[in-house]
Parts: sequence; structure tokens; C-alpha cells
Amino acid sequence: MEVILRNFPNALDSKNKKIKLRILYHRELQLKLSGVSRSINTITNSSSVFLRVLRGFLILNIILFYSCSKTEPSRTETAFGTACTITLYEHGSTGIYNEIFSKIHQIDNLMSINILSSDVSRINNNAGIEPVQVHEETFKVIERAVYYAGLSDGAFDPTVGPLVNLWGIGKGNRNIPSQNEIDKTLTLINWSNIELDPKTNSVFLTQSGMSLDLGAIAKGYAADAAAQIIKEAGIKRALINLGGDVYVLGEKPDKIPWKIGIQHPYEERNVTIGYVQLQKDKALVTSGVYERFFIRNEIRYHHIFNPSNGYPADNNLLSVTIIAQTAMNADALSTAVFVLGYEKGMELIKNIPDAEAMFVFKDRSIRTTSGVNFTLTDNTFTFKN
Ligand code: FAD
Ligand code: MG
Repeated sequence: MEVILRNFPNALDSKNKKIKLRILYHRELQLKLSGVSRSINTITNSSSVFLRVLRGFLILNIILFYSCSKTEPSRTETAFGTACTITLYEHGSTGIYNEIFSKIHQIDNLMSINILSSDVSRINNNAGIEPVQVHEETFKVIERAVYYAGLSDGAFDPTVGPLVNLWGIGKGNRNIPSQNEIDKTLTLINWSNIELDPKTNSVFLTQSGMSLDLGAIAKGYAADAAAQIIKEAGIKRALINLGGDVYVLGEKPDKIPWKIGIQHPYEERNVTIGYVQLQKDKALVTSGVYERFFIRNEIRYHHIFNPSNGYPADNNLLSVTIIAQTAMNADALSTAVFVLGYEKGMELIKNIPDAEAMFVFKDRSIRTTSGVNFTLTDNTFTFKN
């Protein structure tokens, strides 16, 4: 926290006598307020009663403004149905936290399937009926989702909505659907039936009953949006964690790398199997079988679906972590690569510049691409690189 004691030599009281006015303020506010203090000085030279009253009012406002601008080391709020934590390592004023979280809530309100008035709900409710004009940010995320659907040959598919509803994983109605129900639902899952019109930011799902679900990409987009606000505020160091979608902004002092823990797939939250070291301005996102699941007859049914057969993706993986330049790309890729599995997932990652991957397998082995700096701390796992 940088607090400065500043004198105002030209401050006058109500009888026009000079008073000593010394106030504490933040360095980051200095710039914003310099214009105001200049106008106060100008006003001080005037004899108008009106201007003297105005000057008193402005000074009072400055004092109130300073005393209201608290700082916070970190803030957690719930959005996207999960805990979202932002840690600003400098200039963490209440105002900037408010700004970041209002952006996060705005994205939640636009892209959630759980909010009736969201863009995504409106698109879904008009499936097979008519195109829906959406906010440019919603359009951008859907465009990107369609891009990753094409890139992963449909392993990532934002039209998984009907499957998510059918299985109800993470909701009260946990259910193993019949093969007949799955087959019927699969006829609605096809990303190429999303029509996008960039001229009007309109989205149309061509088949009635289709529905979009941006659960595998929108948190990443929100993490990038938060990082953008933080950068624009001139803050050099921050940690963003939106329910496991992590973005590290800037460097730690002395260039000590950031250490981001990798969740133990079978233990409770925040128990880790090791950590990945990151230098700066990187996103790290994990998709795993432990996030939302239920177990029936010793089979784990989780929330990442294979759109080609309608079942939770069943390969030899427990989790996939992607490190990339943006959290949106890392988010979409972690889901896509999880569904593709190790071999096909590796092929995809090798063709994407600046993307790295880490795979945790059911046999408790771990593999990474060459650019991942991973340290194993749980010796019940083996690192096979
Ligand atoms: P990821 O692998 O990143 O994503 C898995 C999710 O993506 C699944 O849950 C499913 O929704 C979807 N998906 C599954 N398979 C595929 C596939 N093959 N291709 C593409 N997508 C797939 N949860 C709540 O409980 N309450 C809420 O109010 C709520 N609101 C949300 C609002 C928004 C805008 C978003 C983005 C999510 C919300 N969630 C909510 C969902 C919750 O946070 C999810 O658990 C989370 O998005 C899943 O992320 P993940 O990182 O665990 O897994
Ligand atoms: Mg994802």
C-alpha cells in the first residue's frame, strides 16, 4: 500500500483564513486528483462567495473520497456457480476490485444457462425459431467456441447443452440415462448447426431442442477480461483464479516463478499432487473428472462429455492441464484435449504455438509437454517425462 501525506497550503476555512490541511492519499489517486487540486487553487484566488462555497465543497469531497478508498489484499465472490478470487499485489483499492467483479458478474449474466435473461438462454429458447441478437462479448465467445469445435473435430462442442441436462451431473437430478435417451439427445448435438451473423451479432441454433452451454470456455474468457482491466489500471502483479481457471499477471519480485498447485484428482479441494512454475502473463486451466461427478456401481460419471457417444469422456485420463497465453484458449483446450485423450490431444497441442499440456492418468502417472515446469510432491504418483 503506498500512502502519502500531502499538504494543501492554499486551503482556507469558511472565514477565508488559511488552515493547515494535510491528508493521506494513495499514489494511484494522485493523478486523478491533480486536476481537482489545480481547480481548487484557482478558486482560492477568487473573491466570489459562490466559488468559496464551491471550494469548501470540493475539499470536503476530496477528504471523503480519500477516506472511502480502502485497499484489499484479495477478494473472493461467487460467480459461474463457483468461487472467484482476485489477488492484486499492488494498488488493490476497493474501486478496482468492484470494477473487476462487476465485469465478471456481467459475463456470468450474459453467458449463463442458469439465468433466464442471459444471451445464452435467449439463444436456447429460440432454437429452431429465429436468430437472436446478443452482446458483442457473447458473440465473440461463441465464435471462439465454434473455432475450437472445428479445431478439435467436435471433441469440444458448445452445443452439449442437451447432454448436460440429460445427465444432470452437478445438479440434484443425477441420472444414468437409457441408451435410447442418449441416442435421441445426440441428434441435437452438432456445432455446425450454429449459425453466426457477425454483421448483427446474431446467433441461431437451427434445430429446435438444441442448446448452447459455454461452461467449458466462458470462465476462461472472464479471467482474460479481468486481466485486461487489471493491466489497464496499471497494476503490474496479480493472480486471478476463477474456479480453477488461473491467470498470473506480471512477475513476482526477483523473478521468482509463480507456483500453481495441481489438484489431486481423488482428494478434497486444494490438496495438490505438485505444482507448475510459471514466469509471467500465463493462463493455467485444468479439466478433471473430480470437478463434478457421481459414482454408481464403482463407475465415475463426470461432467466432461464425449459428444460422439453421449457419455462422460472415458479414456485413461483423470485430468488435463493446459498452459497458454490466454485463459479462454486454455479453458477450451483443456476440455477438448481431455475428450480427445492423450495421443490425439498431444497432436492438437503440438500444432498450437505457446500451448503446453500436462496429463494425469488413471494409473497415477503424469506426462507433460516439454515446456511445462512441473514438480511432483505426491509420491503416490509418478512423473514419466
Ligand atoms: P471444463 O472442462 O472447462 O468444462 C466442463 C463443462 O463444459 C461441463 O460442465 C459442461 O457444461 C461443458 N462441457 C462438457 N463437455 C463438453 C464438451 N465436450 N465440449 C464443450 N463443453 C463441454 N454452475 C452452477 O452450479 N451454478 C451456476 O449458476 C453456474 N453458472 C455458470 C455460468 C457460466 C457463465 C459458466 C461458464 C459456468 C457456470 N456454472 C455454474 C458451471 C460451473 O462453473 C462449471 O462447473 C464449470 O463451468 C465447468 O468448468 P470446469 O473448469 O470444471 O470444466
Ligand atoms: Mg474448459
